[in-house]
Amino acid sequence: MTVFTGLIAGEWLGSGDRSPDENPSDLDVPVGETAASTLAEVADAVAAARAAFPAWSRRSPMDRADILDRAANLVFERREALGHLLSSEEGKTLAEGIGEVARASQVLRFFAGEALRLTGEAQASTRPGVDVQVTREPIGVVGLITPWNFPIAIPAWKLAPALAFGNCAVLKPAELVPGTAAALVGILVEAGLPAGVLGLVLGRGAVLGDALVDAVDAVSFTGSVATGRAIAARCAAAGRPVQCEMGGKNPLVVVDDADLDKAVVAALNGAFFSTGQRCTASSRLIVTGGIHDRFVAALSKAMTALRVGPALDPTTEIGPVVDGRQLAKDIEYLDRAAREGGRVIGGERIEAATRGHFLSPALVVDTTPAMTINREEVFGPVASVVRVSDYDEALAVANDTEFGLSAGICTTSLATARHFVRNAEAGMVMVNLPTAGVDPHVPFGGRKGSSFGPREQGAYARHFYTVVKTAYIG
Ligand code: NAD
Repeated sequence: MTVFTGLIAGEWLGSGDRSPDENPSDLDVPVGETAASTLAEVADAVAAARAAFPAWSRRSPMDRADILDRAANLVFERREALGHLLSSEEGKTLAEGIGEVARASQVLRFFAGEALRLTGEAQASTRPGVDVQVTREPIGVVGLITPWNFPIAIPAWKLAPALAFGNCAVLKPAELVPGTAAALVGILVEAGLPAGVLGLVLGRGAVLGDALVDAVDAVSFTGSVATGRAIAARCAAAGRPVQCEMGGKNPLVVVDDADLDKAVVAALNGAFFSTGQRCTASSRLIVTGGIHDRFVAALSKAMTALRVGPALDPTTEIGPVVDGRQLAKDIEYLDRAAREGGRVIGGERIEAATRGHFLSPALVVDTTPAMTINREEVFGPVASVVRVSDYDEALAVANDTEFGLSAGICTTSLATARHFVRNAEAGMVMVNLPTAGVDPHVPFGGRKGSSFGPREQGAYARHFYTVVKTAYIG
């Protein structure tokens, strides 16, 4: 059986506990085994990154660009095998898995270019004979903590800018997806990354997290609100830069003048694809009275037709839920929605040829904004529908949340679209599109409880992964 280990000071090793790396599509055949890192290995990985930092941060940006570019090519060339591994561990369909791998390749390629585009400013001083230069330098050793739902794209969009700008990094991926993270790290090493520049530690966040957070110079985290807030507080107490991307409860507003077919496609994709396990999932469908019944009828029909099954089966459209804990959580939220007065369509356990965590997509109708299903993130193939009287009420309901990651509207009115873009309290706004599905070269992030710190991705990534120096030269 394949054993996944960390990469500590250039050596693949894991001296901690062993645990199975489960396949949510087939619980009888694990993907492999994880050999967890020990606290001493976390310390060693960070120490090796510190030792590698002076040389790596002074390497020509062309060298760093070349390594990232080679890694981008390798990831793309191996997208089928990597997608297979990713979908086996995480459960999204093979097409989604391969698509995510291709996205990771694009991210690596984009940041290969960014390594060469790090600009500064030259300004006149107020003092004669003095020049002022504003430059950006790498921070040092960054700790990167990632969730399970995008096992290669999220590590790539943290690692690529970290390395492009001359930082060293230690990655701690989610415990459910060690293999995909190890494969990405292996490719970066194969592409020419010197030993120590990048470390990988595997294991439970509750065990390794504090040791990593306390040892590095900055932390970039993606995951749940509770973990993110705890990490942000720990970093703030130590005066350490931190960036957190956390949960969502993203509204998709559908108003009377919407193109019904487009709205159904946006909701179906946004709510249920990738088994709804996306921070940007369209989990609250807020629909005005004139289109509500037609929309619910068409969406339920399309949702019920989605084929749920093993991730690698080419006919599967919705893969399994990632693990037993998340499945129990999804079902508990559906039960609670029913107890609070919602009507649940779908949301049933599905038997397949293999033993897995299969759940049919669920739509909870007749809900009110105060119900738990409209307040808390479920993170499964579950969406709720809130009926509202008009656009103004829809906007108010859309913004009535502690989250603010993504928000969408389906409308054929330019005026309504423009008003929503301006007034939605979210970091990303979509018009006639699902709330999920973003480009790799532009900023990603949210407002309110969804995000903390500078944006990720695109040219904006430099704001987190570099520090500014102002030099006065007399
Ligand atoms: P999680 O918070 O349980 O875990 C995320 C990571 O943090 C894992 O690697 C975990 O091991 C680690 N961790 C756990 N406890 C820790 C601690 N005390 N110290 C340090 N690290 C610790 O989240 P998850 O269940 O893996 O992912 C699901 C969540 O991620 C959802 O809430 C989802 O919305 C969010 N998410 C957000 C985005 C975004 O960009 N906003 C993207 C994807 C997922």
